[in-house]
Amino acid sequence: MSLTLHIAAGQWRGRVRRYVEDATEAGVTVVPVAKGNGYGFGNAVLAAEAARLRVATLAAGTYEEVPAVTGEFGGDVLVLTPWRPWLAGALGDDRVVHTVSRLEDLRQLAAGTARPRVVVEVLTSMRRHGIVPGELAETAKLLDDVRFEGFALHLPLAGDHTAEATTLARQAFEAVPAAARTIWVSHLTAARAAAVGIATSAEVRLRVATALWLGDRSGLTPKAAVLDVHRVRRGETYGYRQRRARRDGTVVVVAGGTAHGIALQAPTAASTLRQRATALARGGLEAGGRALSPFRVAGKQRWFAEPPHMQCSMIWLPDGVEPPAVGDEADVEVRFTTTSFDTLAWD
Ligand SMILES: *Cc1c(COP(=O)(O)O)cnc(C)c1O
Repeated sequence: MSLTLHIAAGQWRGRVRRYVEDATEAGVTVVPVAKGNGYGFGNAVLAAEAARLRVATLAAGTYEEVPAVTGEFGGDVLVLTPWRPWLAGALGDDRVVHTVSRLEDLRQLAAGTARPRVVVEVLTSMRRHGIVPGELAETAKLLDDVRFEGFALHLPLAGDHTAEATTLARQAFEAVPAAARTIWVSHLTAARAAAVGIATSAEVRLRVATALWLGDRSGLTPKAAVLDVHRVRRGETYGYRQRRARRDGTVVVVAGGTAHGIALQAPTAASTLRQRATALARGGLEAGGRALSPFRVAGKQRWFAEPPHMQCSMIWLPDGVEPPAVGDEADVEVRFTTTSFDTLAWD
């Protein structure tokens, strides 16, 4: 019994396919991203879904993630983390497209014999990786000694960066007039990506995960199996920490613990009260020595009896609430980018 992600398969796949079709209709090529925890699905599952979508290219986050996706996906794999000199061993696979974000790395790749497929990342206002626009002219002569497949722009999530993307793409194409007019963008809507493509006469490839895989969560239902139920009387102790019950109640043991990422919060940019309330509701904050759990039992979000364990959690049910039965499933609110499910149930 497990922490399970129930997927309304037809509904979810239909929505994912529509996203790709709508983008295609707008003139934008979708490059699905599979990385990290695979957005709750796992990277191999996302790779298999990308294969069903018949997209030409899938993006992986790191070189270490490439084997998990090439097992399921037969097309090209763009690695989003920029290539660095210690990754020389990764140059042999012709299906892999490398992201290059420093002139010195491009010089090294151009000097070698591998002629790798590369995308040149341009620094945006995001300021994570990328060659500054002023240095792009220096890439021109190096690109003859690699297989150049376009410029990459990784844009911030906040705000509308259509104009920034357009300006940077123009600068890149001006600096390297002979280069392929292809740009790989991130964090634009398909409509905005299309607008950039039209404004720059470029082919636009949109690298997208959240809006694609998690754009509609109505068909995605995380559930936690109830593993055990124990009546506890006032004054009795329970748990690793041997807390003493202040009232009669029930300890409900549910699947889902720290190993699944349950009740772990990635730092959020919670800037509004409502967002902070949501973060609290997901089990991130302590209140009076107790923490509200992300589990809903008998119709209500419940308190942790104590902090979550490795693979399960102890939930406190007050006296008078009808406890669930072993084998029931409780609703659980998760953050998909930090949760590893035990199983996926394609309903
Ligand atoms: C992770 C990542 C993406 C996908 O991000 P989402 O916000 O999940 O769509 C796109 N581009 C780059 C460079 C990334 O690192």
